[in-house]
Amino acid sequence: MASSETPPVAVITGITGQDGSYLTDALLEKGYVVHGIVRRASTTVRARIDHLYSDPTIYGQRLFLHYSDLDDATSIRRILTKTEPDELYHLAGQSHVGASFEIPESTCEFTAMGTLRLLEILRDLPKRPKFLHIGSSEIFGRPEQAPQNELTPMRPVSPYGVAKAFATQMVRVYRDSFGFFACNAICYNHESPRRGESFVTRKITRGAAAIACGTQKKLALGNLDAERDWGYAPEYVEAMWRMLQQPQADDYVLATGKRHSLRDFLAAAFDAVGLDWRDYVEVDPRYLRPNDATQLVGDPSHARKVLGWSATTTLEELAKMMVEHDLKQMAGSR
Ligand code: GDP
Repeated sequence: MASSETPPVAVITGITGQDGSYLTDALLEKGYVVHGIVRRASTTVRARIDHLYSDPTIYGQRLFLHYSDLDDATSIRRILTKTEPDELYHLAGQSHVGASFEIPESTCEFTAMGTLRLLEILRDLPKRPKFLHIGSSEIFGRPEQAPQNELTPMRPVSPYGVAKAFATQMVRVYRDSFGFFACNAICYNHESPRRGESFVTRKITRGAAAIACGTQKKLALGNLDAERDWGYAPEYVEAMWRMLQQPQADDYVLATGKRHSLRDFLAAAFDAVGLDWRDYVEVDPRYLRPNDATQLVGDPSHARKVLGWSATTTLEELAKMMVEHDLKQMAGSR
C-alpha cells in the first residue's frame, strides 16, 4: 500500500486467541491498523501476540489493545465509535465444546448473546463496518449428509453448537433484514502451534513431545473414534479476510474437505517422534462428552469458487509442525 493512503482499520474481538493472533499478523502484514478487544483479568493472557505487543514499532503505532468484554455493550460501542473500523472480525467467545457442557449459561451468554449485542451496536453506528462472525462446524452436530455445506440444516448437539447456531442465524437475519455486510465463516477444526492446550490436537502433540522427552509416560484421551476435518489455522484467517473483500456478503464453509480419525492424528503426531501411539494412549472416561458431534467434514467448494481459497496443509504436516514446536518449547523450558 502507498504510504499516502489512509490505512484500513480493523477491530478484532478475541485478538489473544489462536485465530485472533494469526489474523493480526496477517492484517498488519497487509498494512492495516488493528484494534484488539481484550478481556480485563488479573493475569492478562496475551502470549500469542507478545511478539507484536513487545515491538515498539508496532504496538501503539499500528496495533492497539482496548479492554472490554462481550457483556459490556457500552464500552464496545465506545471503542467502535472511537476507532471507526472498516472491518470488524468477531472471533471471541467460549470456544471449547467439552467445557460448554459444564458452563452452558456463560457459553450462550458470550457466544450467542455476545454476538447479538455486537449486531445491535452496529445497527446504530453512523459508519457500519463490514462484519465477520466466526461460526463453527459444531452447528451441524450430527448431520444427515456429509460433507456439509452452507445450506446443510443446523442440528447442534452441544451447548456450544446451539450458541453458534443462534449467532450464525442471527448474522443472516441482520444481513437479510437490515442490509448488513455480515458474513459467517463456518469453520471446521483448525489447529496450529498456537492452539489451546485443551483441544485434542494440541493435547496430543504436547503429549507426544513430553513422552519423547521422558517427562510424561501416558496420554489420557476421551473418544478415540472421533473424526474431524482438521486444517491449519493461518490459512483459515486468510479466507476470513478474503470474505470481507467481496462485493457481496455471504457465508462460507472453511474446511479441508478431508475427514480424519483421531487415530490418524495420533499416528502422525507420534510418528514425528518415532514412537507408536498405541504404546502410550489410554482412554479416560473423564474426557468423554455427554454427546459428541459426528460425520463432520466440510465441503469448501463455495470458498474455492468465490474466494479462490483452499486449505493446503495436510494432516501429517500439521501434526509434525505442532510436535516440533512443542519439542522446541519443552527443550527451552528445561
Ligand atoms: P471440537 O471439535 O471443537 O470439540 O475440538 P476438540 O479438539 O476439543 O475435540 C475434537 C474431538 O476429539 C472431539 O470429538 C472430542 O470428543 C475428541 N477427543 C477425544 N479425546 C479428547 C480429549 O482428551 N480432549 C479433547 N478436547 N477432545 C478429545
